Amino acid sequence: MVFHPPSWVPKLDFDIIPDNVPICDLILSEKHGRYSFAKSRNPFTCGLSGKTYTYAEVQDRVQFLARGLGQEMGWKPNEGSEWDKVVGIFSLNTIDYNSLCWSVHRLGGIVSPANAAYTAEEVAFQMQDSGAKCLFTCLPLLETAIKAASKCGIPKNHIYLMEMPTEFTGPVSVPKGVYTLDDMMGLGQGCRELEDLKWEKGESKRRVAFLCYSSGTSGAPKGVMISHYNVMANSIQIKLMDKLSRDYWKKPGEDEYLENCLGLLPMSHIYGLVVICHGSVYRGDTVIVLPKFDLKTTLKTIQDYRIGGLFLVPPIIVLFGKNEALLKQYDLSCVKSIFTGAAPLGEETAVDLNRQHPDWKIRQGYGLTETSTVVCSTWVNDTWLGSSGSLLPGVEARIVTMEGVDIDGYDQRGELLLKAPSVVLGYLKNEQATAETFAEDGEGGRWMRTGDEAMIRKNPKSGHEHVWITDRIKELIKVKGMQVAPAELEAHLLTHPAVGDCAVISIPDLDSGELPKAYIVKSTSVGLEESDAMLKRDIARHVEKTKSRHKWLKGGVEFVDVIPKSPSGKILRRLLRDRDREERRRK
Ligand code: AMP
Repeated sequence: MVFHPPSWVPKLDFDIIPDNVPICDLILSEKHGRYSFAKSRNPFTCGLSGKTYTYAEVQDRVQFLARGLGQEMGWKPNEGSEWDKVVGIFSLNTIDYNSLCWSVHRLGGIVSPANAAYTAEEVAFQMQDSGAKCLFTCLPLLETAIKAASKCGIPKNHIYLMEMPTEFTGPVSVPKGVYTLDDMMGLGQGCRELEDLKWEKGESKRRVAFLCYSSGTSGAPKGVMISHYNVMANSIQIKLMDKLSRDYWKKPGEDEYLENCLGLLPMSHIYGLVVICHGSVYRGDTVIVLPKFDLKTTLKTIQDYRIGGLFLVPPIIVLFGKNEALLKQYDLSCVKSIFTGAAPLGEETAVDLNRQHPDWKIRQGYGLTETSTVVCSTWVNDTWLGSSGSLLPGVEARIVTMEGVDIDGYDQRGELLLKAPSVVLGYLKNEQATAETFAEDGEGGRWMRTGDEAMIRKNPKSGHEHVWITDRIKELIKVKGMQVAPAELEAHLLTHPAVGDCAVISIPDLDSGELPKAYIVKSTSVGLEESDAMLKRDIARHVEKTKSRHKWLKGGVEFVDVIPKSPSGKILRRLLRDRDREERRRK
């Protein structure tokens, strides 16, 4: 059975999704843009320095940056393959992040955003795999970026700096010889105007805009090919879905309810990149950008900028709940809603926050990198704690058993499959993973396997169908909303001389949501005299040396005699998870 959005959800007219222009045309151009520049609010404001750009300024920055970057790299909008114009971004959030992305698109190029928490090895892997030709970074990450670039062959003179507020960095100056975004802007101002992109009808569907990295249902992180059409579709879907909440908040006589929203979540992750930086800007809101999470700074920024919509992930909501007294020190009366996603929000956490702030509407959305984010969400008048809400306009869903048989009724668990205009093109250089995840339906469409267990339930209060995510079938671990691929850690652990075999699983954690835990079979080279405690520490350090903090084995290291596997050699993670649960129960 195919589930559709409930009747109250506005219909998506697929014809309004542009299919022959890059994303920035939908958001910035007069033709497709939502607002004429004179009327619009500023799309991006720095929450630390107050620096802000108007729509017209963003438009200029995109043009000048594109000209400057084109001059630097020898790129022209309608010449050469998009795969020769891949730009890496390894930076904390800045108000220039989007202008830079859109300027790369303006040249017909692709952006590969890397997690700012990454180590040099991880950045180098992504840049090498995506074929990035240059790397944009920021001062606090410059040293790591230089190391990464040298590992993957990006020349030092192709590392560029994005400006960070001095309120964040302190009074540091740009090292000599490093070219900045503003230098590039200056260069662009002196260059000739670029010719328009000449895209045929349907080209936005084929053209890759972003290469974000996700491990999908199994294996190591892979480049997810997100098209221009995917992002434009999701921005339009978000706006349509949100209209109901906006109408609810609109004051009499007001055209539309617009607000300042919190731009704290990493712009390198699909949630920050699409929901916040594209969806909110397309809707006409102002994104108040913060480079990094710090509880007090976040609260002060919410208060000072009268932020109405908080985009958060569950671990930050947990922290809000634990710091009731601190929250009371700030005037947070401006907050209307909290939108959470990227990982499950515990029902108790939500209830606790609702008790402290009964006026805040807690809304949950669900999505994946592979769906260019959100496919379902609750709206302000149909919240149901624990639910991920109703399907967005244009999204279809199925729930299937392990054997692939459709489940037709409510309240029955199975794997969630999705069909939506935001479902991505596939994985870069990985036909097998693409075929396994995005199955052709024989009618020109594709059903995407989410690897998540879900059920469809009817909200007893409203009677509307909601999607409930009940478990994760795939290997993926999510620490503070960030991806950790067990296969990546297992491959790395096997390079330690004491490790004969291993498996990494997810264990629950109140603060981070989940943590990675390793089960290790000692290699034959380990002597009887070696202490387990020392070995465990050494193995944990082996991970800490090259992997970013959220991948560290904070869930522990445990020795076992054998890793349980199926006859085909697949690790039986569920058995290890059961074993861990039993051990914790006994403690
Ligand atoms: P990512 O591609 O990093 O966004 O990760 C996507 C995965 O995060 C999904 O497949 C889910 O496993 C998990 N996820 C995202 N949103 C939710 C949610 N609201 N509830 C439960 N899991 C979620």
